[in-house]
Amino acid sequence: MNIHEYQAKDILRSYGVAVPGGKVAFSADEAEAIAKEMGGDIFVVKAQIHAGGRGKGGGVKLAKSVAEVRELADQMLGMTLVTHQTGPEGKTVHRVLIAEGVDIARELYLGIVLDRSVSKLVVMASTEGGVEIETVAEETPEKIYKEYIDPQTDMQPFQARRLAFKLGLEGDQIKHATKFILQLYSAFTETDASLMEINPLVVTPAGEVLALDAKIGFDDNALYRHKNIAEMRDTNEEDPLEVRASEHHLNYIKLDGNVGCMVNGAGLAMATMDIIKLAGGMPANFLDVGGGANVETVRNGFEIILSDPNVKAVLVNIFGGIVRCDRVANGIIEAAKSIDLSVPLVVRLEGTNAKEARELLANSDMNFEVASSLEEAAEKVVALI
Ligand code: ADP
Ligand code: MG
Repeated sequence: MNIHEYQAKDILRSYGVAVPGGKVAFSADEAEAIAKEMGGDIFVVKAQIHAGGRGKGGGVKLAKSVAEVRELADQMLGMTLVTHQTGPEGKTVHRVLIAEGVDIARELYLGIVLDRSVSKLVVMASTEGGVEIETVAEETPEKIYKEYIDPQTDMQPFQARRLAFKLGLEGDQIKHATKFILQLYSAFTETDASLMEINPLVVTPAGEVLALDAKIGFDDNALYRHKNIAEMRDTNEEDPLEVRASEHHLNYIKLDGNVGCMVNGAGLAMATMDIIKLAGGMPANFLDVGGGANVETVRNGFEIILSDPNVKAVLVNIFGGIVRCDRVANGIIEAAKSIDLSVPLVVRLEGTNAKEARELLANSDMNFEVASSLEEAAEKVVALI
């Protein structure tokens, strides 16, 4: 799960990480009141969407008075913001962060992610802040400094200091940066985050070190331990079909192709997508209906798959291990009766009672294509399109 910048900053603040003052506003009135209360003479109005690159897209603007804050908030709220991360359709802005304007001496980068290839967290820092870190990684990878964290010892102060030195910091800046990095690391592990990115991490002319921007992603499987974080979810920012699927406890990810897939088990779902590609087709989605495929899950699955207008045919590939195939077949027949199945459907069931299941499908008055192998199923569905 991802959250907004202002929410990420609230979390970081509670772990003692240095962030500039600021508050979220949902209306121009609120924006004005926040700026008035905050005081100071430079403010920044920042569109809150789950995408970066807002600065270049016109979603981060400087204001020199409370009146200007109001004006900018009024312009930004409701606008469609297009950045290199939103895609050409952009995202509607429903919230803005009113932040203190910060004097910037240097813009740096700091990030923490899990490096799966070594099973360790890696803390990354770079002097190339404020720009796309992907570009830095590609063109000048030597400008990204890394510290791998031993899970048994956690991050050590010397590791944070080493990063601070590599960033070319001096004197008190080193002390501030070391504290910042260690606190960010604590926030990461204690909230079960999967990604944290501070871009830019800024050094002020007075030598303070602050998170000017903050991005956090969390491990969904750990959210039950963090009710306050789970409540920060903003479904406006997510794909509507993925939101519906998660309400039904289905694992659904929308893709660009036209073959709808309904599969049980993530491994089988991956294999199904591969074999569709091998047969010359393109999957429209990843959908894992879980171990116990019944009428209800199958119906919900169909409804979600068919809500995608790109879907031109559906492939159902279910292995009957925990559930018997004949029960799944009955589920498919029942579900197909209750929805408007406007595209061809290929079904491949394997496992317990697979033969009975195939007979049930073949004898039903629905127009199913039954396949006995995965290869045959993939070829059939691609041919039908
Ligand atoms: P994004 O990454 O989506 O473009 P950022 O929060 O990183 O958004 O802001 C983009 C740029 O705007 C920053 O690199 C910084 O130069 C400037 N900026 C952002 N917040 C502030 C602030 N509070 N004070 C001064 N400048 C800011
Ligand atoms: Mg940024």
